[in-house]
Amino acid sequence: MTSEEKRELDIFMKGLRKRNPHETEFHQAVREVATSIMPWYLQHEEYRRAQILERITEPDRIITFRVTWETDSGEIRANRAWRVQFNHALGPYKGGLRFHPSVTQSVLKFLGFEQIFKNSLTGLPMGGAKGGSNFNPKGKSDREVMRFCQSMMTELHRHIGEDIDVPAGDIGVGGREVSYLFGQYMRLENRWSGVLTGKGLSFGGSAVRKEATGWGCVYFCDDMLKHHKIDIAGKRAAVSGSGNVALYAAQKLIDKGAKVVTLSDSGGMIHCPEGLTLDQWEELRILKEQDRGRLSSFESSGVNYHSGKNPWGVPCEIAIPCATQNELDEDDAKTLIANGVLAVAEGANMPTTAEAMHQLEENDVLHAPGKASNAGGVAVSGLEQSQNAMRISWAPEEVNQRLQKIMKDIHQRCVEFGEMPGKPVSYVNGSNIAGFKKVAEAMRAYGAV
Ligand code: NDP
Repeated sequence: MTSEEKRELDIFMKGLRKRNPHETEFHQAVREVATSIMPWYLQHEEYRRAQILERITEPDRIITFRVTWETDSGEIRANRAWRVQFNHALGPYKGGLRFHPSVTQSVLKFLGFEQIFKNSLTGLPMGGAKGGSNFNPKGKSDREVMRFCQSMMTELHRHIGEDIDVPAGDIGVGGREVSYLFGQYMRLENRWSGVLTGKGLSFGGSAVRKEATGWGCVYFCDDMLKHHKIDIAGKRAAVSGSGNVALYAAQKLIDKGAKVVTLSDSGGMIHCPEGLTLDQWEELRILKEQDRGRLSSFESSGVNYHSGKNPWGVPCEIAIPCATQNELDEDDAKTLIANGVLAVAEGANMPTTAEAMHQLEENDVLHAPGKASNAGGVAVSGLEQSQNAMRISWAPEEVNQRLQKIMKDIHQRCVEFGEMPGKPVSYVNGSNIAGFKKVAEAMRAYGAV
């Protein structure tokens, strides 16, 4: 970066921090994008004059509301919920809902901001949004979760619609929650529309949606490795998380001949030095998806549980963080590098801290950022919207083929904008520039709106 580029970046970031005090996750996400695009942005006076960077970092609107619900024992609880409708230059707002005690406006703004560029990269007509609540579904009964979802939708339904804003799942929001939310939307609006994605297969859901983020991440990782003449087969892969993304990333890794040596949850990790078998994976899937169990209760030959540990100390060639933001820090990156890691492909959103990213870049580790490598989920959500609009449903093979093609195209766009002479492709720069450019073009074409 030249000194002029650095000066412009610092001035811009100073203003952003002043306008959005204390929103550290949002600052981090914006800085990453602004750092990548600044050289390109400064060469394009027309975008600067149109103030695209200032406008794209300001959400169109944020809706904040109270969600009141009743526990099984009759006590009243109140939570806070948000929908951040960030930018709809490319299509109706689209992005998941997260239920987790760590949810704040800053977290949802970072996620909504990232979503703009991710959705742009898919090539599908989708704007960026994110929403959620600080409600903790862990330990709640099905009926409590249902009452919470119904109460949340009682407010949210006014702000969404198939051509306005189409939410989906994220951490803490899976098939059960999407179904409760969708049922309440229909009750209030008295019509069926594809207003949420991630629905059950019998009521408008798409084949392969559940698998899409994890599988898509591994398709991207495989393309990235192939581009650098590395074979994924036989490589050890450390995966973090054991939710929707992690489980299906692990399944596809095994399918491609890699050895899945870890999975984790907020309590600890399982270590399997020889790699999980498909039978062990299926037992784990049942434990997590059907029984809502913890990894600490998983017992199988060759598998050890380590309480309080994350996977990054385990030797591996591929690291796939699939839990949450900032779960892989500078020390973790140094350990991975010392152990010979070749590639990091993000299943989660912004799982790598800024310092860890710097380490990976300095040491020529291939690094696929979430906005590129986990875009498979929202891509199949986009395909779910198309199927709903046409009142048809495609077979799993067809959706899977489209998913693979979308991930290949995203990889190609990253290479186009991220190639660096004598160095591995910068997927961070490539995804940021390619994603930004398309949204910027649309915003400029609309004039000052
Ligand atoms: P799930 O709720 O299904 O699973 C989350 C997993 O991560 C669980 O194993 C959970 O453990 C673990 N986890 C969550 N928070 C923490 C934490 N603070 N510390 C340690 N472990 C944690 O979520 P998803 O799999 O859907 O999402 C995972 C990531 O992928 C998120 O960053 C999400 O934004 C991103 N993503 C998801 C998409 C999707 O289609 N679902 C699409 C694109 C991105 P525990 O159960 O102990 O809390």
